[in-house]
Amino acid sequence: MRNITLFLAFVILSSAGCLDSLKEDLISCENKVGECRYEILQSSKYSKLHIEIDYVSGYEPSSDALDLLRQRINEVTDKTSVTFSQESFGSTDTSYSLEEMLEIENSQRTKFKKGDEFVIHILYLNGEFEDNENALGIAYKGSSFAMFKENIEDSAFLFISAEDIEKAVLVHEYGHLLGLVNMGYTSPHDHEDPDHPHHSNNEESVMYWAVESQDFYNQLDGEPPNNFDSYDLDDLSLMKQGKL
Ligand SMILES: [Zn+2]
Repeated sequence: MRNITLFLAFVILSSAGCLDSLKEDLISCENKVGECRYEILQSSKYSKLHIEIDYVSGYEPSSDALDLLRQRINEVTDKTSVTFSQESFGSTDTSYSLEEMLEIENSQRTKFKKGDEFVIHILYLNGEFEDNENALGIAYKGSSFAMFKENIEDSAFLFISAEDIEKAVLVHEYGHLLGLVNMGYTSPHDHEDPDHPHHSNNEESVMYWAVESQDFYNQLDGEPPNNFDSYDLDDLSLMKQGKL
């Protein structure tokens, strides 16, 4: 019932047109993964994108991985600027629940969407995710995801470097914020894995489920993919154009 009330309020305020800030308080995309896809993909409202990273001391992001994320962002959006900031913090924890991640984000995050700039927040953590010790990353809010850097480092083997894995996980979690696959929209392409909801059924897509799991070496030949496939890209393009 509450949802219906909010929906009606949204419709009324949308048609009023001049109450954007009030509308944002009522309907925030931040609460659900995939809901901020239009804010991130389209440039009409937010022409700039900022990525704020808070990392546990000693587990900072790889600069090459961040360069690749910037490249992937530029490939699917028309933002006039994509900027990054990063800050470290101390932690004695080694296993993080979703509640703890939300608390850490609350205490560490300094930037939120404002004016023409949208902000994505990334937590880089030591240790593991309490609910799934194999997780290499997890998207948990509309504009936020976490990277399990220590697990990523532990997953490196033979010719697959921790940096190769970090690149793939970073783009994968960013893809979830964009709604991939079928989060809040329905793709015209049959590319969602029925056994792993919201993931691609193509193991050459960065959205393949095993990319964010330490199981990937059992599931993939060679290094994990760090690029969207043609179906992912078509979904993103349609969403950017407002057709999906
Ligand atoms: Zn995933």
